[in-house]
Amino acid sequence: MLNSEILSFSVHQPTNRSSGHDAFASEDKIVPTMTVNQFRFATVVIGGILVLLFVGCGTKNQPTAGPDVLPDVAAAADEAPSANISDQSSSANAAASNFNSSQNSVNSGGDNTNAAADESPSSHTDPRQPSPSNSPELQQPSLTARRRLPDDRPDNNAARLLAAGIKRYESERLILLTDVSDEEVSKLPALADRLFEKLTEHFGDLPQAFDGSGFQVTGHLISDEARFRSAGLMPQKGFTFKHGRHLNYQFWIFDSEFDYYRRHLLFHEFIHCFMTCESGMQNIPSLWYIEGMAEYFGTHRLHTNGRIEFGILPEQFDGYEGWGRISELRRTFERRPAANSTAAQQLAIPTLNEVMPDTVNNFQQDSQYATSWALCWMLNSHPKYMQLSAALTPMKTRRKFVRAVAGFRDSDQPRFNVDWLLTIESLLENFDLERSFAVHSDSVFSSVDLAASGPQPISLRADRGWQDTGLRLVAGDSVKLVCTGRYSVDDQPTAWISEPQGVSIRYVRGLPLGQVVATLVRTDGSSLTNRIPVGREAILTASENVAVWLQVNDTSDSRSNNLGTADILISVP
Ligand SMILES: [Zn+2]
Repeated sequence: MLNSEILSFSVHQPTNRSSGHDAFASEDKIVPTMTVNQFRFATVVIGGILVLLFVGCGTKNQPTAGPDVLPDVAAAADEAPSANISDQSSSANAAASNFNSSQNSVNSGGDNTNAAADESPSSHTDPRQPSPSNSPELQQPSLTARRRLPDDRPDNNAARLLAAGIKRYESERLILLTDVSDEEVSKLPALADRLFEKLTEHFGDLPQAFDGSGFQVTGHLISDEARFRSAGLMPQKGFTFKHGRHLNYQFWIFDSEFDYYRRHLLFHEFIHCFMTCESGMQNIPSLWYIEGMAEYFGTHRLHTNGRIEFGILPEQFDGYEGWGRISELRRTFERRPAANSTAAQQLAIPTLNEVMPDTVNNFQQDSQYATSWALCWMLNSHPKYMQLSAALTPMKTRRKFVRAVAGFRDSDQPRFNVDWLLTIESLLENFDLERSFAVHSDSVFSSVDLAASGPQPISLRADRGWQDTGLRLVAGDSVKLVCTGRYSVDDQPTAWISEPQGVSIRYVRGLPLGQVVATLVRTDGSSLTNRIPVGREAILTASENVAVWLQVNDTSDSRSNNLGTADILISVP
């Protein structure tokens, strides 16, 4: 079943902190003791002058609070909001400028040495290590200099909860209050402990809390909202959500009919609590990262023996009911080509600029969760981008985060854009990480080069996804591709031998499996076409400045059973 859940998102703005606690049986709250300095800091962070924000993943009702409040409070005391916004603009301009010069060099037929240098072996030596930064602005305070927010959870009376029909399950990292009777629910706190270990492994140890408390979250898993409301466990009016929402060390989620998605929602909100426990949602990294990482680590595989893995790519649809992130992504751009049309059409895949804005403060559409998940998955799965993911983990404040991302993008345009588009074009459950990411070419040539040098041979591997021919065309250029060779596109029950026209008993994207197909990717990485049939021979004409990419038509989850190459001869017609 496809995911039909609408995960809208909103930010609400209660008038002050104390009113936010009125609904939480504040008479039962334990007031933490603090030193004077701690109290001053906490006052700045969570006190009256800064507006308290709540984050929710989905709203039942559209927000009634003022829109887009996050940028105004995004900067903490040391980072003025106006500076934050203008820095972001200048970063974007710098990126655009850098990108334009890359594009020009490619269009003029120059070699793509910048892109080649990015693929130097040294950059792959240990992709999980953060890139060293000499910029003092990007240095983070040491762990001992940082503090978590104090534990502000109400001390709920267990007997009163039980009388209200609400059970309590507890582990080291999660207290779960729920009226869901499913036996599976009792296992959730222990799974949250495993998630905490995984998050610590990725983001590093959490700092001490002001009040010395250990990190523990209270989650409310709700079947009957009225039951929780009458027990005083629901947030105050205006704190609305469709699926789930968090606030400091608490979260609330509505039960799902699917076991998988119930866990997923719980993990998603738990991750928000983990990632914002130093800031209370003040001055945090960009929303695409906050939501994308919650989606990334919340996507999990639970084995029958109880072992659990986080940050995985589902290997199939079954077992991940309610998730549907890939289906949602594909729905936005996948169109079956008209039977009588081979014309290239631009696919409506959102660009990186659209997927990773720094100024979006609430998610209103499923597709925003899907694209943010996909980007964070790519950052943590693609060997080249793991270094960016690792470098971002200590960036706890928005300004540092935005600068780190902009710096990486400046250094890597437009390859990052192109990798994003080609990955999303191919993304499926069980995407083959070893074989299906795009393969770039460091040897770039133009139609002018081609006219001078004569036909160029290219070898196209059947067991790889999109492969860069190195050919760059400017608008109006035409090239001829002649394809020969025999290769295998499946090995069951025996080798399926294909030639460049493909095998006509199975189709992928409306074209025969095994057919040589092309996509034309704008050289700035801003868009790409659908799969264009090449077969034994075709003439491609560019209507804009593009790079020519090819593949043996297949799905990204089925490359390991392919073998051999197609031989392509590229010439000026
Ligand atoms: Zn969320």
